Amino acid sequence: MNKPGKQDKQASMDLAESARQTKWQHPSFTAELFKGSFRWDLIHPYPAQSDTDKAIGDAVLVELEKCLKTHINPEAVDKSGVLPETALDALKAGGYFGMKIPKAYGGMGLSITNYVRAMELVASWCGSTAVWLSAHQSIGVPQPLKEFGNDAQKEKYLPRLAAGAVSAFSLTEPDVGSDPARMGTTATPIDDGNYYIINGQKLWTTNGPAAELLVVMAETPPKLVHGKEKKQITAFIVEAPTPGLSVLHECEFMGIRAIRNGWMEFKDVKVPKENIIGNLGDGLKIALATLNVGRLTIPVISAGTGKVCLSYCQDWIKQRVQWGQSIGKHQAVANLVNDIATHTFAIDAMSFLTCSLIENETADVRLEAAIAKYFGSERAWDIVDKTMQIRGGRGFETADSLRKRNEPGIPIERVMRDTRINRIIEGTSEIMHLFIAREAMDLHIKTVFALSNPAISISKKIGIVLKAGLFYSLWYPKLWLPSWSIFSIKHLNQRNLSQLHYISRTSKRLARSLFHTMVRFGPKLEYQQAILAHYVDIGTQLFAMAATLSKAESILHNHQNPKTIQALTTAFCHQSRKEIEQHFRAVRTAEPQEKKVASEALMNADLDWLMNDIIRFETTDTPIN
Ligand SMILES: Cc1cc2nc3c(=O)[nH]c(=O)nc-3n(C[C@H](O)[C@H](O)[C@H](O)COP(=O)(O)OP(=O)(O)OC[C@H]3O[C@@H](n4cnc5c(N)ncnc54)[C@H](O)[C@@H]3O)c2cc1C
Repeated sequence: MNKPGKQDKQASMDLAESARQTKWQHPSFTAELFKGSFRWDLIHPYPAQSDTDKAIGDAVLVELEKCLKTHINPEAVDKSGVLPETALDALKAGGYFGMKIPKAYGGMGLSITNYVRAMELVASWCGSTAVWLSAHQSIGVPQPLKEFGNDAQKEKYLPRLAAGAVSAFSLTEPDVGSDPARMGTTATPIDDGNYYIINGQKLWTTNGPAAELLVVMAETPPKLVHGKEKKQITAFIVEAPTPGLSVLHECEFMGIRAIRNGWMEFKDVKVPKENIIGNLGDGLKIALATLNVGRLTIPVISAGTGKVCLSYCQDWIKQRVQWGQSIGKHQAVANLVNDIATHTFAIDAMSFLTCSLIENETADVRLEAAIAKYFGSERAWDIVDKTMQIRGGRGFETADSLRKRNEPGIPIERVMRDTRINRIIEGTSEIMHLFIAREAMDLHIKTVFALSNPAISISKKIGIVLKAGLFYSLWYPKLWLPSWSIFSIKHLNQRNLSQLHYISRTSKRLARSLFHTMVRFGPKLEYQQAILAHYVDIGTQLFAMAATLSKAESILHNHQNPKTIQALTTAFCHQSRKEIEQHFRAVRTAEPQEKKVASEALMNADLDWLMNDIIRFETTDTPIN
């Protein structure tokens, strides 16, 4: 493993920055929140799926459910770690590998909303199957090809992919996880650039060992920009099998045990230039754009996890009697159920709102998609943990064992193992924090951060200061005034309206506080990860509240379950407000310097005294047979 230096860190940040989508073509609800502006009009009325699109989705879900129940036994799949060929064949025959591919290329041509509804259904039955389908079409070849491929590539590959040629997305390497700038896989041009030779290793490529087509990110020769070499990462379609491509190891995991995931080696793999997606050097941009939309599957699946957890609890909390009454009547259990239900509702509201915004092309959703992924995967883990707690000892027991004792085989143990990965893949929660913080700070970065760039001349800096002074003298005072537009909103009941007022006020408070913190730290703010995380969490909660209120309002409008829906909404907002206030308090309270000590001490072997009386893990360990 090569040791990184300060320059490597800067290079990583520069590369990530250059791959960023710089323009905001549409307004962004959450970016506005961070600027102190609550744009309720962007998310209300809650965008409903059209009747026609819903009918298409409903029909797909009916057939898909039949297919899953006929061909896939989730317990057996988990136990054996294998998704049977018969199941894969049935999924291919049903067209489920082509759900997102346009009809013109032989796919189902589902809308994003119907696609994620289908994925939610699959995941609620079998996590491994969901990952097979999702790795193939949420991030695999179809997604980048649809967005960035040329017509010839689409004609050549999309029909194959729709028919079930399994695909994979290969970015991660043994030394390259969250930070692709240090990518070691290279693609060297030969024959006047007509072909490329790929060399390197990719780790954890889901579907890799079974794939016929892979999107592979590799470093191509650098480009000269203003006399300086700029690293180029390019996306290639690689067909498998092909000489030089091999699977070094099939990885095994705690959950989603029946996925096929490989440590892949590329040794002089020859690829024609026609297989480049987009342009040379666009690879990271393509990867990030693919993930921007692709990662929406995770929050929808997370909402589905919440829904199955509710179904696991339904009979149990009523029928299980302890201390003279149903456990659902004990306040502690009722509170856990409240958390499960309210968070499920919130994740569902955020995810489907974001899908609709993408579909309607009315808003930039890079922040909402990242927040939904972050919030959804974190809260789903909490939901699963709480469900296990409610099930008591039975929660920890496998479904198989429960059935053998003639009890209902509620598989929360498997669901817990399957759910954990979502906080890691497609951007870890920590990386989501950084991504959201970067986008949230965009206004300030564009306005003043250039001042810290030594390459910028004094005269230019004076210009920046004058422009920034003018901007902030107009923008900042507004953050102390109430937002008048909120008073024109009449359609909500008093309770929900007061929540909207809170969001509006708090968005201004968030923008002010963020601005003060930026003045305090300047460009060094990017190193204050703990503070930034609190701001991100405040923005996250505000978006969650707003999406929940918008969805609640749309349901209340149709008079469906008014009492329950109002209770869930109020309970969720109450909890969110509590959390928001905690984050504001945490931002005001300086972190003790001592918090840095443990990590440093551990790296310097200064915590050895604490690790006494245990058999310590040694990196040189060999397994005991
Ligand atoms: C089951 C499974 C399936 C996968 N499928 C695919 C796939 O199909 N294709 C693919 O390309 N990859 C895949 N991956 C890889 C996955 O995307 C990575 O695991 C993920 O990006 C994190 O990288 P890493 O594990 O190397 O963690 P690292 O990047 O090494 O991070 C380790 C820890 O440090 C934290 N961290 C890292 N950098 C920072 C920072 N700057 N600030 C704060 N904290 C930081 C991380 O959040 C994490 O907690 C898969 C992984 C698994 C386990």
